[in-house]
Order: sequence, then C-alpha cells, then structure tokens
Amino acid sequence: MSTTAPSKPALDILFLGSGSSGNASLVRSQVGGVLVDCGFSARETLRRLALHNIPAEDICAILVTHEHTDHVGGVRVLAKRLRVPVYATPGTHRAGRIEELAEDVREIQAGDEIHLAGMRVRAFRTSHDAADPVGYRFDAPDGESFGLLTDTGEMTPEAFEALEGCTTLGIECNHDVEMLEKGPYPWFLKQRIASPRGHLSNESAMSAVRTLAHDGMRAVVGLHLSSTNNTTAIALGELQDTFCALCLDVPVACVAQDRPHRLAEEVSCTSAT
Ligand SMILES: [Zn+2]
Ligand SMILES: [Zn+2]
Repeated sequence: MSTTAPSKPALDILFLGSGSSGNASLVRSQVGGVLVDCGFSARETLRRLALHNIPAEDICAILVTHEHTDHVGGVRVLAKRLRVPVYATPGTHRAGRIEELAEDVREIQAGDEIHLAGMRVRAFRTSHDAADPVGYRFDAPDGESFGLLTDTGEMTPEAFEALEGCTTLGIECNHDVEMLEKGPYPWFLKQRIASPRGHLSNESAMSAVRTLAHDGMRAVVGLHLSSTNNTTAIALGELQDTFCALCLDVPVACVAQDRPHRLAEEVSCTSAT
C-alpha cells in the first residue's frame, strides 16, 4: 500500500467506468477496498484495476445498488473468484438474479450502517424502476466521506440527508432534458427515463449539487452519462457553471463508459491548501 502525504484524502476512489453498459466504483481506505456494483465482466474489471496497479485482493466486499445488469453483470464471477461477500438490500436480493449471483450474500437495508475496510458504510433509498434500490455513503475515520448516487429518477429525502456534508460526491448526470425530448428514443423509453423512477437529468443533478455543496468539498463527479442523450462537454460544463455560480473552487469530472477514472490523483494535485 502506498504512503500518502498529509493533504491527500484518506479515501482513494477509482471509478472503473459508468454508463448503461456497465458500472463499478472502488472505494479504498488505508486498509482495503469495497467495490460498488460490478457491471463489467470479472475479467474486464480486473483489467481496469490493473491499469491503476490495484491488486484485486484489496477488495473485501461488493456492494450492489440494484439488480439491473449494468450494475450486477460481473458480480457472481468476481465474488466467487475473490471469495468476498456481496451486500444487497432484501428486495434486490429477492429480485431473482442476486440469488444466483454469489454464495455469500448479506442483506443490508436502506438506513443501515455497516463497517467495511475501516469505513462506515450507510445505504440510503433511491428512486428507480428496480425492486429495492439504494445508494451508499462511505465515511473514513479522518472525516473524509464519499457519497455515491446513481440510477435515481429524483433526489429522495433519504439521499439528501445521507449525502449532506460529503467531501466527495459521485452523482448521476444521465441526460440533458432537451436532448432526451428531441432524441431518437421511443416515447415509452423517454417517459421511463424522465420519470421519478428513471434516471437523474443534468438539471436535477445540478439542483442537488447546489443543495449539497459546501466549501469542504474535494470533488464532484458526474456518473451514468447517456451516450445518446448527453455529452461529457454538457454535463461537465454544467458542473463547472454550478460551482462557479456558488463561488466554490471544487474540481469536477465526468466518468466515461470505456475507461477508469481515478479521483485521488486529480484531487491530490488540486488540493494544495
Ligand atoms: Zn444503470
Ligand atoms: Zn438501473
């Protein structure tokens, strides 16, 4: 494990990729890592970890947000290979596929707090067309925290409460409202995406970011961008404009589908205060 300078955050966050073809994020403390979702094949997940020289053995658990394939497609093979437990809500567990996903599934309810890899982990309810979806917040002992919210049609009161004060935030910026309206998707799919149990628009994400922003924030990262109804330039521009309007100097980024994005590097070179 590498040593860290005093100004470096205690949480090392590697987004392995994000979008409708696969999602996975690794949250590492000084003593180990927890993977949130594994929507890539186990092989591809390990390849992306290796790009950042992260040993797979660092992973001590896999947390699942919900049962959609872009979040659980690689869970079974990876959990078996690494011999780690899979945490899911009872509804996600019962939703069918999770039962086959791993030998060691442990249930976590929205509102529960557990301890993994030296971090306090809290699950909170999201709003999505899945059985029992949740997001997660991680708190390191030194006060660093990371909130992960994706696949939610709207901000739930539980999400606002759980994410308050987060020093790093990963939030869904799925679509630009106008691009979705004018885009090629069939009507029913547009309705589904825009519904309160669909996906978070840039507009809704920015509203949430404005509420959650504070001057101790280290970074905000846009997740689950649609390749049809959004662009990195639009989402990134909106994040930049949001913080500019708030007069806060917070690094922002968007995660691509096809390559990992490591937050610690970006944050450590911009947080020289
Ligand atoms: Zn998804
Ligand atoms: Zn989903």
